[in-house]
Amino acid sequence: MDRRKFLKITGLSLAGLTIQPAFRLFSKPEQKRWAMVINLDACSKKDGCRDCIDACHRVHNVPDLANPKDEVKWIWNAPFERVFGGQGYTTLNEVLKNRSVLVLCNHCENPPCVKVCPTKATWKREDGIVMMDYHRCIGCRYCMAACPYGARSFNWKDPRPSINEINMDFPTRMKGVVEKCNFCEERLAKNLLPACVEACEEKGLIFGDLNATDSDVRKILKSKFSILRKPHLGTEPKIYYIL
Ligand code: SF4
Repeated sequence: MDRRKFLKITGLSLAGLTIQPAFRLFSKPEQKRWAMVINLDACSKKDGCRDCIDACHRVHNVPDLANPKDEVKWIWNAPFERVFGGQGYTTLNEVLKNRSVLVLCNHCENPPCVKVCPTKATWKREDGIVMMDYHRCIGCRYCMAACPYGARSFNWKDPRPSINEINMDFPTRMKGVVEKCNFCEERLAKNLLPACVEACEEKGLIFGDLNATDSDVRKILKSKFSILRKPHLGTEPKIYYIL
């Protein structure tokens, strides 16, 4: 090998060695896909329990409005029949009919709410969280009409006077804006669990990464039968229920 050829080959090899770590530095880590499992048996252990609801609404400055017509909610209880009505479960199990079930935004894989928003005030992140930008929301409520789960609330009046104690670490909203659960994205960014999951002493709420084979959600979904809300719509909810 002549001198020129040798220098060319060694030069290219060295360049490869320096480029590779830089490439690794900028390559994306494994993409997360957040999901929640609600264990209805564990959840119904404490009669009238609202620990998760209170924790969520406290950290997210959700107003406490007495009139149900004005109500703003991120996570709430609804009768089993209303949540899963028409899906055949109540004919299988009579006890279920009288249960109440926790409901929240499903952070759908195919969110119809995102498709209809004219200002892109709502969008889906790569990790699956369906987000809201309160400043871009023009209050048209198309997203509320599109959501088949009634997961969104509208601020018919200024919510601030009805917030029990304002959490200064989270924004308050204004009249004319839509809001909903954000899977506690602000807490996930700090490596914290969602407030509702943390507040549940009965371990009725399990949260984690669907893409990680060793995550709690993957393990529980592998070992137990779970159901989804309105799976026939093709929205692919990320809230799973264990009966
Ligand atoms: Fe959108 Fe409703 Fe699905 Fe949540 S549950 S992502 S608000 S369609």
